Amino acid sequence: MKILVVEDEVNTARFLQRGLREEGFVVDLAHCGDSADRAVSDQDYDAILLDVMLPGCDGFRLCRDWRARGVNTPILFVTARDALPDRIEGLNLGADDYLVKPFAFEELLARLRARLRRAETQTIPSVNLGRLVVEPGARRACVDGQEIELTAREYLLLECLARRAGQVVTRTQLWEQAWETGSEPVSNVVDVYIGYLRHKLGPARALLQTVRGLGYRLSTPP
Ligand code: CA
Repeated sequence: MKILVVEDEVNTARFLQRGLREEGFVVDLAHCGDSADRAVSDQDYDAILLDVMLPGCDGFRLCRDWRARGVNTPILFVTARDALPDRIEGLNLGADDYLVKPFAFEELLARLRARLRRAETQTIPSVNLGRLVVEPGARRACVDGQEIELTAREYLLLECLARRAGQVVTRTQLWEQAWETGSEPVSNVVDVYIGYLRHKLGPARALLQTVRGLGYRLSTPP
């Protein structure tokens, strides 16, 4: 899952990025309103952690703009502004939760997970490909009814392919989905991970096809 952390305070941003990575999330950082806005226009995030006081623009305005544009990604304000009117404003603007600094990382994680679960069970249906079923709501994949064990990145790749089942997904698209935005694609890394994934798919491995010169495709059953 990919999370955008919007935070101008560098140490806090790094702390959040490191903590969330350790929990298996892919994390993009934005240090100002403009870069946050660009990131949200360019990418699909599973959740956004949004600071309120940012250089140039405040998080409330970003939240309002995004909701007005139809962005329905879960948004959690993470801010030092703890006054009740601020909290109410944040929630009224369409944020999903409001966490006041300083906070315990465990609490942030628990709230983030709660939001992600809610968002997913509401919006993302399972993808049934015959022997392989991918369930974004539960973040798991089953082959012949048996859950397979995947790392966070393997799961992200599989989900990306499953959501576009029957279509070719390029290495670049896969990279963008499962690695940090702006990181340089490392030659062959996607292929290596696809190899791991194929191995874990076992009897369903034939569904994951290489399309020479283009990328990969998860085929739909006939
Ligand atoms: Ca700030």
